[in-house]
Amino acid sequence: HRLEQAFEQQRSFVSHASHELRTPLAALKSEIQLGLRHPLPPEASRQVLETLHSDTDRLISLTNSLLFLARALENMGQMPLREVRMEEAIALAQEELLSACPGYRVEIAYEHLPESDTQTLVAGNEDLLKRVLLNLFDNACKYSPDRTARVAIGGDDAVCRVSVRDAGIGISPDDLARIFEPFYRATNATGFAGFGVGLSICQRIMELHRGRLLVESTLGQGSCFTIELPHL
Ligand code: ADP
Repeated sequence: HRLEQAFEQQRSFVSHASHELRTPLAALKSEIQLGLRHPLPPEASRQVLETLHSDTDRLISLTNSLLFLARALENMGQMPLREVRMEEAIALAQEELLSACPGYRVEIAYEHLPESDTQTLVAGNEDLLKRVLLNLFDNACKYSPDRTARVAIGGDDAVCRVSVRDAGIGISPDDLARIFEPFYRATNATGFAGFGVGLSICQRIMELHRGRLLVESTLGQGSCFTIELPHL
């Protein structure tokens, strides 16, 4: 049964991926045909080129995510874990997001003052953890009208916990059960840019770290995604 389920997941992943790649490719093709068929005035050709440019960007970004997901799957279990200070990974993710999206806000606070400086040390790969945080911050800002992610750092003797809260569109209980599936997007998310692969990548990365990714959300009110990582 497990094999069959894994096979089914793989099949649906490939068919989703092909669909996601085919749609922008078909759009590219028809734009190019249009440009070839009629000699266009300079303003119109500029517009065609701009559309081609943004469609190509979309394709590059999707291909990169898919490659990343495939590699993360492949290398499961052989990744060396090193000492990572979560505040540093958070600061790197914040910096990267804000330089790409200057209108976003990421507010960072401690849940309580750490008792010792080892409370925010975890065993991990800083690049991958930064990627998880970046994705959670990005979603929090993208799906909320105030464009703000509220990050709280906390934890206990066993784990370091980082939660990312937003006051955005929220997720319905039915969708909550499915948002970690590759390519799944909730119906209230269709007006926002995205492919639905970010959270499945985050979950894979958390598995590699023997950590957890949890979510609580209320439709129309907001969401809170929490990562938990064992200490070094
Ligand atoms: P994307 O945002 O590109 O669609 P993700 O894999 O990051 O892909 O998220 C999957 C889906 O989970 C989103 O399409 C959206 O429906 C839902 N989602 C994720 N984060 C949030 C959030 N902070 N608020 C509301 N919905 C969210």
